[in-house]
Amino acid sequence: MKDVETVIIGQGPAGLSAAIYTSRGGIKTALVGCEPKVAGDYDIDNYFGFHETVSGKELIDRGVLQAKRFGAELACDRVLGIHFDDTGRYVVKTEGDEYRTCSVIMATGVSRKKPDIPGFEKFDGKGISWCVSCDGFFFRGKKVLVAGEGNYAANQAIELMDYTPDVAICTLGKESSITPEYMVRLRELDIPVIEKGIKELKGDDVLAGVVFSDGEEYDAEGIFIALGDASSTDFARSLGIITEGNFIQVDRDMKTNAPGIFAAGDCTGGFLQIAVAVGEGAVAARSAIAYVKEMCRGK
Ligand code: FAD
Repeated sequence: MKDVETVIIGQGPAGLSAAIYTSRGGIKTALVGCEPKVAGDYDIDNYFGFHETVSGKELIDRGVLQAKRFGAELACDRVLGIHFDDTGRYVVKTEGDEYRTCSVIMATGVSRKKPDIPGFEKFDGKGISWCVSCDGFFFRGKKVLVAGEGNYAANQAIELMDYTPDVAICTLGKESSITPEYMVRLRELDIPVIEKGIKELKGDDVLAGVVFSDGEEYDAEGIFIALGDASSTDFARSLGIITEGNFIQVDRDMKTNAPGIFAAGDCTGGFLQIAVAVGEGAVAARSAIAYVKEMCRGK
């Protein structure tokens, strides 16, 4: 367990900008993320100060050097979940580590995930859930599936074992990308990984079962969606943070309704541009710095 004062999730323009400000402001900062898929992928002509085309990769590489220069610790890792612990701090669990922190800045970009399950809207909230820590309790002792292909799904499945022993992972027809370390834990806990799609959901008002792509029927009463990487909306759900659709609701200081949790960049919606993400990262960092100094230091 690493103790820090702020964890920033996402190494895109918003997260890097926030890390430059928090570390320069003397806040012990961990920036968790990896090679950005979005901003790293294209050429940019409309970012202030670059009169010639700059590649997204170059802009990000420069941001990484700048954040490191002021002392931010960068980890190439994926965040799996955030929980409030009994010491009044947040615990940020990643694939490779755990951080205890006073504040979090979510800068995970826009979430574009929707499960490829025919008719899933009909059972959304009626057997289909997006949050184990919110809804796991309602599935005590029931047979449930976790829909997802990676370590996020594996971690959600492991968490579900607190509520029911009958948990399986369904990759929705994708190849599993769960790492060997997680596979060992899944085997120990007897959680199978089913690499099939789901072609039909059964039930009248609430979910009563699924039909896999090969025709096999499986009488799961719950499906927990955990596709790809955990996004800020996934974290928001588990922390009771207000969202508007896929976006985190923030005020002018980039504060969410949860104390010590801030958000910046595309994950907050609005004008999805690098200039805006960078500006919001700076504002979120200023708020986090003030929060850490007032609420956490010496307490
Ligand atoms: P992102 O850049 O999306 O960064 C978020 C980061 O968080 C990603 O690296 C992601 O991998 C990481 N992350 C997500 N989940 C986790 C997790 N669980 N753990 C750890 N890390 C996580 N804007 C412009 O200003 N000019 C342009 O020319 C332009 N062209 C664009 C072209 C395309 C094709 C697209 C898709 C977008 C373009 N944009 C452009 C928009 C711009 O890319 C975004 O507004 C900007 O990247 C938002 O920055 P961000 O930091 O909020 O999010």
